[in-house]
Amino acid sequence: MRVLLAEDDDGVADALTEALYEHGHLPTRVRRGEEVLVRHRRADLLLLDLGLPDLDGLEVLRKLRAVSGLPVVVLTARGDERSVVRGLRLGADDYLVKPVRLAELLARIEAVTRRSATAAAPAPRIVRADDVEVDLDARRVTVGGAEVRLTTKEFAVLAALATRAGTAVSRQQLMDEVWGDAYLAVSRSLDVHLTQLRAKIGRPEVLTTIRGFGYRFGG
Ligand code: CA
Repeated sequence: MRVLLAEDDDGVADALTEALYEHGHLPTRVRRGEEVLVRHRRADLLLLDLGLPDLDGLEVLRKLRAVSGLPVVVLTARGDERSVVRGLRLGADDYLVKPVRLAELLARIEAVTRRSATAAAPAPRIVRADDVEVDLDARRVTVGGAEVRLTTKEFAVLAALATRAGTAVSRQQLMDEVWGDAYLAVSRSLDVHLTQLRAKIGRPEVLTTIRGFGYRFGG
């Protein structure tokens, strides 16, 4: 499993990295919270130290949860009960008190990933709204039975919305999913792609703008 380890203490990070390697995981270690927000999409699980040099770990968690359901195990200093409670409330899946016992760490990682695998429901692969049909596997879009040709990015934007048909998806989440970074200046690019998509699909009621938030496909 690809484990992203956010830990600024070299001693702790080296020990954890070694233990993870030895047990067949692929750890990537970062020192700063900002790096978590850029790299989380290439990980299956995040081990998050709460005391990071640039951002509070809880702030990292809050930002991450706005765009991702990645399993997170929080690493915290002993006795820091308030942070643990806040961490769990913000969407951490579990926590470990430092100094971390390796056997416990490995067991927790296993348990968290088992839970998240069970929770992940298979997504519908063909999504329809009115006469618009999005085939997510074939990457094919038809309107009234006629195929509409989309660019890779246009399809990616549409797929991100169609996967959650009937639900409002925030601009931040779209940017993160399609461009891999919600914190770069890709906002204008998103607008351009949405304008193009709307023109090609020609069904304004199928792609709704949720003012001040984002967009919705169907529903
Ligand atoms: Ca630390």
